[in-house]
Amino acid sequence: MDIDFSPEQELFRATVRDFCDREITRDYVRECDREHRPPTELYRKLGEQGWLGINIPEEYGGSGGGAVEVAILLEELGRAFLDLSFWVFRAVTWGGLAISRDGTEDQKRELLPKVATGELSVCFSLTEPDAGSDAASITLKAEEDGDEFVLNGQKVFTSGFKVSDLAVVAARTAAGEKKHHGITNLLVDARAPGLEWSPIETLGHWPLGTALLTFTDVRVPKSMMLGTLHDGWRDLGVYLRYERLCLSAARTGAAKAALADAIAYSKERRQFDQPISNFQAVAHRLADMQVQTEISEMLVYRYASRLDRGLATPRDAAILKLFACEAYKSVADMGLQVLGGYGYTMEYDLQRHFRESRLGVIGAGTSDIQRNIISKTMGL
Ligand SMILES: Cc1cc2nc3c(=O)[nH]c(=O)nc-3n(C[C@H](O)[C@H](O)[C@H](O)COP(=O)(O)OP(=O)(O)OC[C@H]3O[C@@H](n4cnc5c(N)ncnc54)[C@H](O)[C@@H]3O)c2cc1C
Repeated sequence: MDIDFSPEQELFRATVRDFCDREITRDYVRECDREHRPPTELYRKLGEQGWLGINIPEEYGGSGGGAVEVAILLEELGRAFLDLSFWVFRAVTWGGLAISRDGTEDQKRELLPKVATGELSVCFSLTEPDAGSDAASITLKAEEDGDEFVLNGQKVFTSGFKVSDLAVVAARTAAGEKKHHGITNLLVDARAPGLEWSPIETLGHWPLGTALLTFTDVRVPKSMMLGTLHDGWRDLGVYLRYERLCLSAARTGAAKAALADAIAYSKERRQFDQPISNFQAVAHRLADMQVQTEISEMLVYRYASRLDRGLATPRDAAILKLFACEAYKSVADMGLQVLGGYGYTMEYDLQRHFRESRLGVIGAGTSDIQRNIISKTMGL
């Protein structure tokens, strides 16, 4: 990799990789997947390592790292266990970034140290049944009533809700001239009276899952508003671009794992009296997987380092998200093909990559939406 990591960053990567090799066995990941079980013990261990507070300022119990450190952590965890990496992505995005950046002093003092230890998990609720790609058209209503907001409406696809204590909920607080106006972000207690949830069955990401939330007169103290009243869309843009980095880093790690499995299999599996890696069709497939993974990695760290230097643009985030998520999908698909019929069985992990990689090009802004963002900057 032609990226200048500092010696501290290299050491950090080696430490995380060593932890993953030691603590995260294939059997454990498969068990969590099969049983739809969240890796709670491991998450707590990450808290003990201090990694859940990686981008939380030191004064609130974190280690004050930047985007490059976050990307290293998520990439290495994603290589070992994608859903665990996604759990951490929520801590660093909704805790480390959103609350650190826009929280009140009280919110920061109360919440961030708990995010850093893993005592408190945060998820994100933006999407609604009628507001997906057109996210600014959300209608979940938060009406002011004295010192509180009263929430009514629905959110769909809130991932990780089952392990969360708090949800960052984007709500409509005013009609606004344009749909982007009148949106406010609220920190909502996941077990608040009137907030009901049900799991949504999906193709993958079973350990943490995703949920449908129904809000009926849910009361949220005004002290739990995150950022400014009616002007939450601007902040959401910042969070969503950070989310694109995190998800891309995690999936780049997962793509590397899929590639490693396919290479190992191709050297062991013999047909026509030789390893299948001898066949050019297989070797070329592996070469394409290598190229896609390497470019994803370069884009992840290009974006992370631009973010740390204050140079990142929405276009950069869209290019990264589009490429890295399409690459993981393609790598998983080709990897499964390398394993032939065995790739299609539940005995190997390629099927999980195949299932989970499909979400990348849908969630957090579909590939079409990323292309829209990129093409708008091209003077067409
Ligand atoms: C498993 C899972 C987990 C998720 N987790 C979360 C979460 O934690 N929090 C959260 O808030 N949301 C979450 N989401 C929601 C996710 O971000 C949305 O599904 C996604 O943004 C797309 O919205 P939609 O599903 O309503 O599709 P739609 O917006 O209805 O899109 C349908 C199709 O139309 C295309 N399309 C729509 N508009 C355009 C356009 N302008 N130009 C070109 N093509 C367009 C889309 O690309 C897509 O192919 C999750 C979704 C899933 C499936």
